[in-house]
Amino acid sequence: MDTDVVVIGAGLAGLQCARRLQRSGLTVQVLEKNDAVGGRVRTDRIDGFLCDRGFQVLNPSYPAVRKFIDVAALGLQRFGAGVVVRNSEGLMSLTQPLRRPSANVTAVRNGLLDLRDLRALARWLGPTLLRATSASRATRDTTLAASLDEAGATGRLRREVIDTFLAGVLADSSGQSSANYTRLLVRSFALAIPGLPQAGMGALPTQMAASLEQPPQLETPAQNLQETTSGVEIDTDHGRLLARTAVVAVGPESLNDFTEEQNPATHGLTTWWFSAPEPPLREPYLVVDASKPGGGPAGPVWNTAVISNIAPSYAPASGHLIEATTLLDRPDGRADETAVRRHLEQIYGTSTSRWQVLAHHVIAHTLPATPPPLVDRSPQRISDRVFVCGDHRDTGSIQGALVSGDRAAHAIVGVLGSADPQPEDA
Ligand SMILES: Cc1cc2nc3c(=O)[nH]c(=O)nc-3n(C[C@H](O)[C@H](O)[C@H](O)COP(=O)(O)OP(=O)(O)OC[C@H]3O[C@@H](n4cnc5c(N)ncnc54)[C@H](O)[C@@H]3O)c2cc1C
Repeated sequence: MDTDVVVIGAGLAGLQCARRLQRSGLTVQVLEKNDAVGGRVRTDRIDGFLCDRGFQVLNPSYPAVRKFIDVAALGLQRFGAGVVVRNSEGLMSLTQPLRRPSANVTAVRNGLLDLRDLRALARWLGPTLLRATSASRATRDTTLAASLDEAGATGRLRREVIDTFLAGVLADSSGQSSANYTRLLVRSFALAIPGLPQAGMGALPTQMAASLEQPPQLETPAQNLQETTSGVEIDTDHGRLLARTAVVAVGPESLNDFTEEQNPATHGLTTWWFSAPEPPLREPYLVVDASKPGGGPAGPVWNTAVISNIAPSYAPASGHLIEATTLLDRPDGRADETAVRRHLEQIYGTSTSRWQVLAHHVIAHTLPATPPPLVDRSPQRISDRVFVCGDHRDTGSIQGALVSGDRAAHAIVGVLGSADPQPEDA
């Protein structure tokens, strides 16, 4: 045997799985088809700017992040606690009610915040906010849209802020995602303010990979996975690897390459990254556009932010960095640069003629779809010697990927044995 375990894929799930296996005293070889670790969490330096491959954030309240990641070492740069809303009345800041309620006077005066909606939202989120996350999985599940309707959240706050904000977070504007899953997500935003690492989101997998004694083998796609009587065989360009077990830690779009299972459905988004000589806004908030009559964006951009206001390390001293996100489940999700600029000019009320496009990431498989009912952690062992992990096995998030990788490692240790004690739950 070349190694105890081969892990196919060096995304967060594969890396966490490998780290845990190593801690349990097993030998591990990670194979990664791309030229760096991280999978969907990577960062490029472009003209002195840090551009994550698709806008995303790190939420330090995720239990698995607290447990498995040295967040302090990442130097998290935090968002402001709230959002800026663009509607027909202009740009309006809305701070998180649990943190600075008094800052919302303008929104109350303008009718964006009203007591009925706030009470309804408290009804919708309250039990999840107070209970342990596992308890909310047991609650009867329905779609996000139906659950908000049932709770009575039908006013402007829902239509102009919540729906638009959550569509960007879920990469799903249909309102058909699991209500229970969305509650868990909103809970994590309520418990801690997300941020961006000093060196970009890619610093997260880099930190994880650094603790592996056997570095991941990059630019080494696994081509074939064969189960034998004594173990598994994996073919690569560099030859055949023999191992006692294998972990398929690929993204949802590649699951079927190695298993009999169908690839899970996914949602996609695109991120435009612009540099600008002046920031179009000074606040460190995500901006959601709700200027279409009745709510929702009046163009292709569902959210945008002046990232350098939040994370100064993402831009050189002389520049400012702006992200703009479009959703691939919308007809205008693949809008061209002209349409995106036109919409950003409406949102920020300023010209974008001096802005430069740094990158445009089109990520068809951003997140596995999470329809109701929220599945309580899919099995990780699919045959005697083959295990699966990834966000599609838990929840479509950094939390889900880490937990899933960790659980797969435990299942393997249960089979191959280890001197290490049992894990705590994350
Ligand atoms: C644009 C975007 C925004 C997001 N926003 C957030 C957010 O704000 N908060 C949050 O919590 N989550 C967010 N997510 C989700 C989060 O990034 C993912 O849930 C998580 O990174 C998934 O990790 P994974 O290891 O399961 O899969 P992946 O990251 O997809 O890793 C799979 C790995 O397998 C490799 N691979 C595939 N085939 C092979 C092969 N044949 N041989 C070898 N290697 C192979 C791939 O190259 C990849 O490295 C976002 C994702 C994206 C893309």
